[in-house]
Amino acid sequence: MDSAWFWLVIIILGVVGLVILVSYLNRPKCPKCGKRDSLSTSRKTVKSERISIKKEETIKHYSKDQTAAGRPIAVMPESVSKRTYTVPGIRTYYDVKYTCRACGESFTRREYTDNEM
Ligand SMILES: [Zn+2]
Repeated sequence: MDSAWFWLVIIILGVVGLVILVSYLNRPKCPKCGKRDSLSTSRKTVKSERISIKKEETIKHYSKDQTAAGRPIAVMPESVSKRTYTVPGIRTYYDVKYTCRACGESFTRREYTDNEM
């Protein structure tokens, strides 16, 4: 195998491994046996509050000879800048009930989701 390909495969495996690890660590841990293997059985809305959601916008800048009648005709813009802004949103908190698949223990975890208004 070519060494460039070798490193590409290593990097891809590393990224995939990291994604799996993060999603695993995000799963709720059983307080009794400590295993992260549980099923959510119910979800109850607790409260919701107003928040600001941070967003990023990419702005493409075209030079004069890259445009025709004010519209960009070039594939690659001359420069690209980023602008961050916030939009109002609502964060909803839930109490999610889990049942551990290993020992059968039931426990709840506070979770939330963010939605734009
Ligand atoms: Zn358990």
